[in-house]
Amino acid sequence: MTRSFADRHIGPDSGELARILATIGVESLDALATTALPATILDESGLGALPAPASEHEVLEELATLAQANTVATSMIGLGYYDTLTPPVLVRNLLENPAWYTAYTPYQPEISQGRLEALLNFQTMVSDLTGMDVANASMLDEATAAAEAMTLLRRAGKSKSNRLLIDADLFPQTKTIIGTRAEPLGIEIIEADLSTGELPEGEFFGVIVQTPGASGHIVDWTSLFAAAHERGALVAAGADLLAMTLSTPPGEQGADVCFGTTQRFGVPMGFGGPHAGYLAVRTAFARQLPGRLVGVSVDADGAPAYRLALQTREQHIRREKATSNICTAQVLLAIVAAMYASYHGANGLRAIARRVHQHAAAVATGLGGAVVHSAFFDTVLAHVPGGAEAVVAKAKSKGINLRLVDADHVAIACDEATTDAHVAAVVESFGTALTPDAGAGAEPAAIETRTSDYLTHPAFTRHHTETAMLRYLRALSDKDIALDRSMIPLGSCTMKLNATAEMEPITWPGFARLHPFAPTEDTPGIRTLIADLERWLAEITGYDAVSLQPNAGSQGEYAGLLAIRRYHLDRGDDHRDTCLIPSSAHGTNAASAAMVGMRVEVVKCRANGDVDLDDLRAKIADHADRLACIMITYPSTHGVYEHEVAELCALVHDAGGQVYVDGANLNALVGLARPGRFGGDVSHLNLHKTFCIPHGGGGPGVGPVAVGAHLAQYLPGDPLEAGSHAVSAANYGSASILPITWAYIRMMGAEG
Ligand SMILES: *Cc1c(COP(=O)(O)O)cnc(C)c1O
Repeated sequence: MTRSFADRHIGPDSGELARILATIGVESLDALATTALPATILDESGLGALPAPASEHEVLEELATLAQANTVATSMIGLGYYDTLTPPVLVRNLLENPAWYTAYTPYQPEISQGRLEALLNFQTMVSDLTGMDVANASMLDEATAAAEAMTLLRRAGKSKSNRLLIDADLFPQTKTIIGTRAEPLGIEIIEADLSTGELPEGEFFGVIVQTPGASGHIVDWTSLFAAAHERGALVAAGADLLAMTLSTPPGEQGADVCFGTTQRFGVPMGFGGPHAGYLAVRTAFARQLPGRLVGVSVDADGAPAYRLALQTREQHIRREKATSNICTAQVLLAIVAAMYASYHGANGLRAIARRVHQHAAAVATGLGGAVVHSAFFDTVLAHVPGGAEAVVAKAKSKGINLRLVDADHVAIACDEATTDAHVAAVVESFGTALTPDAGAGAEPAAIETRTSDYLTHPAFTRHHTETAMLRYLRALSDKDIALDRSMIPLGSCTMKLNATAEMEPITWPGFARLHPFAPTEDTPGIRTLIADLERWLAEITGYDAVSLQPNAGSQGEYAGLLAIRRYHLDRGDDHRDTCLIPSSAHGTNAASAAMVGMRVEVVKCRANGDVDLDDLRAKIADHADRLACIMITYPSTHGVYEHEVAELCALVHDAGGQVYVDGANLNALVGLARPGRFGGDVSHLNLHKTFCIPHGGGGPGVGPVAVGAHLAQYLPGDPLEAGSHAVSAANYGSASILPITWAYIRMMGAEG
């Protein structure tokens, strides 16, 4: 008998299943479902919108067709996403190695010393390159890291002001996400051109700048930072880590916080993600860092050992007092970036950076007087009055995507993959757009201002040959236990097979090398895949609309609560600011509610873990017209299908509240019940739990948010559109790992 994918995916065979059923005394799985689930929610109408299951090989062919439908152009768009040459030794032995990608978050240090060491290397790399004291072990992307920097400045500083000053030359998506996060917290954003060195009038709690800027411009911020401090404000700076191998880092210019992305350190662009963002601070603010932090400790025998420190699980402990909801981060991608730095070392990185800069300088020389800023690292801004569209079209015809800034400006970003031929083609594309009398431009400014050492630790000096790197990766992974060796009964993140057929496509260039802001006509294949997945997830959950933008469950919660908030505001119910959360809830729920400016009211649970409906009635009565929503997890954290769930939803709806159903436990509902039909208005799912994306040692993840029709207009918008309420830097978040979930659903089909 040939086995179907579903047969190979599902662990127990028929004999084992019979024993399990006999032990618990039910006849069949269907009978078990009928007994366990309340009859009011059991939904046997089937998943008609899903296609019939296909085999592994059929699915790989379908995915290959989708990947080929995309155009992998030479990307010179920049804006925080750059092509990069991932060393093959890292592709095969890390990115595509289940010993690394199936690991769980390192909560148990005794089985996680390997990845804890790799993450400590990531922290060392970031703090060295930025000139800061302490870095955490990854953020979800650059824009959300900037937003976390904003709230960090506010709570760490002494200023009473609610105003944040941002430089006009931040990446547009960074500005959008800062705007999304600021609004519910009552933070006022003031945008100004700070490259002049002047601060606008008035008081600010913080100032955020970036180096190099979106235009490529490198500014020495030293005096601006000093002026901001004088004014009582703290400062955060975005910094490109490759540029920091040459230029003075913000930490040496007086910044209090640094943020950014490590994507260009060997992590493919992937149509937006996943890749590791970073956040780094001075020692004085170490306790304010969100996310996870690896520290060096000693074990029971006094030998050195790594462990998660300080903030670990802070949302679980501090709940609505938590300063961030970040839980799943970007561990696998942080480790790729750290290993890229280990493999190249300081000299190797400096050489890559110089090559990138020399290509940019060659572009600038070719463009002469059209170049706007003479101090740049990799990105050149060209002024071509009225000619920008024609230049971009000409480059496109040569297979190169440039960035159309406006009708008069084009930006060209060089990266590790840029060649002399690309430079020549770019300069040719400008052709007649360059006014003949513009003459030669100013010489590119000298940007090699950095004098301090970096990456001197043995982790960055010992593994420069392929054999040494291969052995280092093997030695580290041998210290860990991941799903390639054993079950890890620690959480819903680990309860799945990460099938090889699902994993193969993520490194195919047709998915991996797409820039998130590439022209739409370049990306029909991945857009089809995204549309399929949105439709399938809507069918599975019973909701009307799905956004794949949030890049972790926590971000899906945030997006979902933001939708509820905006729904109430649009109806004039601005007094509805209370979020009811049962005491058994996951810590991110309360933290997310606090981040959208809601007041958290805890609802009691009974001894068996069920929500106490009497207490719920009392809380609803107490808060009556202030009720915004309830957040429940279904089935509950205790693993129980609470039979009163329909009644619970009705109670909240009758009081004018919305129902958020945390979908992290959706494994137990798929094909049996739909939260969108039994009373939920909005849910997030965790594709890295229910839908087979491996946990990567603590990330990546995807946290789609699914909503009823009345909330569809409040789903996150395009991060390139100011005020769009986007929650991630890229429109489809961690797009390059969506083929995993697509393949899983496609192979399992409705029955599976
Ligand atoms: C995992 C989980 C979350 C958070 O998801 P992340 O992807 O880690 O941010 C939220 N709620 C529940 C019930 C979970 O199990």
